[in-house]
Amino acid sequence: MTAASEEFLRQFAHAQRVLEESFDQLPAHADEPLGEDAGRVLMEVAERLRDNDPYQHPLYAGQMLKPPHAIARAAYALAMQLNPNNHALDGGRASSAMELEAVGALARMFGWREHLGHLTSGGTFANLEALWIAGRLAPGQAIAASDQAHYTHARISAVLGLRFVSIATDEHGRMDVRALEEALQREEIATVVVTLGTTAIGALDPLDQILELQSRHKFRVHVDAAYGGYFTLAENLERPARAALDAVSYADSLVIDPHKHGLQPYGCGCILFRDPGVGLFYKHDSPYTYFTSKELHLGEISLECSRPGASAGALAATQRLLPYERGDTFARGLEAGREAALDLRTRLARDDRFILPLAAPELDIVFWTAAGTTAAESSDRARAIFEEARRQDLYLALAELPVRLFPTSAWGKAMPQDMRVTCVRSVLMKPEHKMWLDQIWTRLSAAATAVYSD
Ligand SMILES: *Cc1c(COP(=O)(O)O)cnc(C)c1O
Repeated sequence: MTAASEEFLRQFAHAQRVLEESFDQLPAHADEPLGEDAGRVLMEVAERLRDNDPYQHPLYAGQMLKPPHAIARAAYALAMQLNPNNHALDGGRASSAMELEAVGALARMFGWREHLGHLTSGGTFANLEALWIAGRLAPGQAIAASDQAHYTHARISAVLGLRFVSIATDEHGRMDVRALEEALQREEIATVVVTLGTTAIGALDPLDQILELQSRHKFRVHVDAAYGGYFTLAENLERPARAALDAVSYADSLVIDPHKHGLQPYGCGCILFRDPGVGLFYKHDSPYTYFTSKELHLGEISLECSRPGASAGALAATQRLLPYERGDTFARGLEAGREAALDLRTRLARDDRFILPLAAPELDIVFWTAAGTTAAESSDRARAIFEEARRQDLYLALAELPVRLFPTSAWGKAMPQDMRVTCVRSVLMKPEHKMWLDQIWTRLSAAATAVYSD
């Protein structure tokens, strides 16, 4: 253990004691000490957890996995002493205040002066709440999202009994605004889901242009920025991404996942509505709900009942240590990931063993495939490079993506637009990835050499 982590553990133990002592006036009630059996079980857990990829290490550069910050883990563990429930103020007074503070900071990041919002178990449930409100406001009308939107939007729409319309994307993976307008002319679409940062490749739908359609068509805008939202703090984006994120202030609702880019443990999404009036749709009169306040409390504006107060504590603590300010440590971390993505793309482009898509990374996701005479051969080699990289301790991901994202010259002839090719994908979302890019590249290059010499 390093000196820094020993010091951190000391501080944690101290904070835990202080919290314990604040209930000292009560008769003694100590936890059962953990015996030998518990120690053995814990060792077993450690053994079993080894069957994971090393998500916490910078050489893990595959799926969208980012380790929670130490302050988030510590604050979460501290709150576990009480295990508050933010369903109602009686279950978690302090942690409810922390939730309001944390959610307020997220809203302010997008310039929202007014809002109604709360934390959720994740992006999926947050999107469910957004589309539920959309459905209540326009019963029977459809939801539209791009064909690169998160797969759960179609499923959520089905759960809510709302028709779902899929809108084509262009060669950048962004929603095609002309295709959207045609759909708006053709059918009754009440809500357009605009994805700012698609899960597969990190593309941003042109929210600014989509909002212009509101002068001719009436529809509600829900922004799904579960993964990409925090990039509004980054100062190294290209103009289209910047314009899309700047337009979020005009959206009706917004989803952002602190457990994606916000350094939080899983179980932390967030839904925000720009009009607090939608709170009326949540009103319920459960006999089990205990009221201690005249205001709408968090349990009254959430579809979920029990929710972890520890998540709110962890998020609020992280925001205090790493405020959401442009140019500050947290924002610089996002910028570093994006720089790493651009750096990797440049190295890949100089190497003819790889085929790159038309679009450069808009955020911090890079994808490419392997050179081959056909898309099928490229796919086979991409899978082989992915496997070989693992043997070199570099953990990447695979994705099946449309060939239209690549230059038409990639395989010498025109191919069906919806045909797919297997790609290697890397989400460079840890701030450390920038420093580790030489290491990442050395291993990737060695993996490609091994595949091509077979
Ligand atoms: C991850 C993601 C979701 C789903 O969020 P969960 O927290 O995994 O439930 C929804 N939309 C987008 C754009 C995402 O990236």
